[in-house]
Amino acid sequence: MSEDWNTRTKLVHSGIRRSQYGEVAEAIYLTQGFVYDSAEAAEARFIEAGEDEFIYARYGNPTVRMFEERIAALEGAEDAFATASGMAAVNAALFSMLKAGDHVVSARALFGSCLYILEEVLTRFGVEVTFVDGTDLAAWKAALRPDTKAVFLETLSNPTLEVIDLKAVSDLAHGVGATVIVDNVFATPVFSRAIEQGADVVVYSATKHIDGQGRVLGGVVLGSRQFIRKTAEPYLKHTGGAMSPFTAWVLLKGLETLDLRVRAQAAGAQAVAEALEGDPRLSQVIFPGLPGHPQHGLAMAQMGAGGTVLSLDLKGGQAAAFRFLNALRIVTISNNLGDAKSIVTHPATTTHQRLTEDQRAALGIGPGLVRLSIGIEDPGDLIADLKQALDAV
Ligand SMILES: *Cc1c(COP(=O)(O)O)cnc(C)c1O
Repeated sequence: MSEDWNTRTKLVHSGIRRSQYGEVAEAIYLTQGFVYDSAEAAEARFIEAGEDEFIYARYGNPTVRMFEERIAALEGAEDAFATASGMAAVNAALFSMLKAGDHVVSARALFGSCLYILEEVLTRFGVEVTFVDGTDLAAWKAALRPDTKAVFLETLSNPTLEVIDLKAVSDLAHGVGATVIVDNVFATPVFSRAIEQGADVVVYSATKHIDGQGRVLGGVVLGSRQFIRKTAEPYLKHTGGAMSPFTAWVLLKGLETLDLRVRAQAAGAQAVAEALEGDPRLSQVIFPGLPGHPQHGLAMAQMGAGGTVLSLDLKGGQAAAFRFLNALRIVTISNNLGDAKSIVTHPATTTHQRLTEDQRAALGIGPGLVRLSIGIEDPGDLIADLKQALDAV
């Protein structure tokens, strides 16, 4: 059965629900509702819906369910709930389990919208949040308290690619009974073993590697059946973060090729990082797959690869960074990541523009820093493009 399958088999076959027509490709059930054979059947389904019984697309839908079962099989989670975006997943994971008076400990280096939820929104509802340097285990230990309900982190930080020791943080968090919630976008679902390493809840923006082709927004919350059905689902089904069936279908097709794409992207990122390391125009090439990265050993033990994103620090600050971006021919300027197309971002003036210069400096985001998300193009072509753009600087 599906538990014995290897990753690439799961990504093609897990979760399939074939209709009476025996279609090969997953069907798109583009329907908001479902009809009942009788009034009694409707009543029974509202009391308890069975495996193949649906009520309303905000609660669940057969195409969405296929996506949830396939990504749960990949992650090794008991269950999953799909959401309209990655942020709907992060929001639901936190808000479904927290209440006023609770305490949360979070890594400080977070995706901007995650930081907004933790810093600006949760605190407005009486949740206390302590931020720590995620790589400092002593800081986690000092911040955790008996009333700490949740711990939140991204195992690989954006855009400086620091690696957090998930197993060590999970052990500390479980010591005080806290739920460990991991946003694992940068590690990718292919290299993630977050549940095995101690995470209780894993969230993804499916907009990134899972779609991987720049088409749709989506997200998913994964965890124990108890957490997904008793905590996340009641919150999500009543607050409206549901994924559309069409999106689920696009993402099911994305999952089929996820392992092939992400492994090609990671190999490309490794080749690019090795080719650019030591370039005199760069003060730094940041990539966990390089032996010189401060947490290289941890990255290899935790993910088995360096990931698909690297950052370059250009000598010459913002002016040099802008000349570099503008000279690229293959790599496109955008702010997505995990896409089949290689993408370059200048965090200081885009994704992290909202922060003050001091806050950016504290996160290691200088004016010369550029983030590269490596796609599935030929790595030799990418290296040539990056080198000619450095020449143009
Ligand atoms: C993109 C991203 C999100 C948000 O996902 P959306 O699908 O854009 O809502 C959250 N966390 C991380 C780490 C991300 O990269």
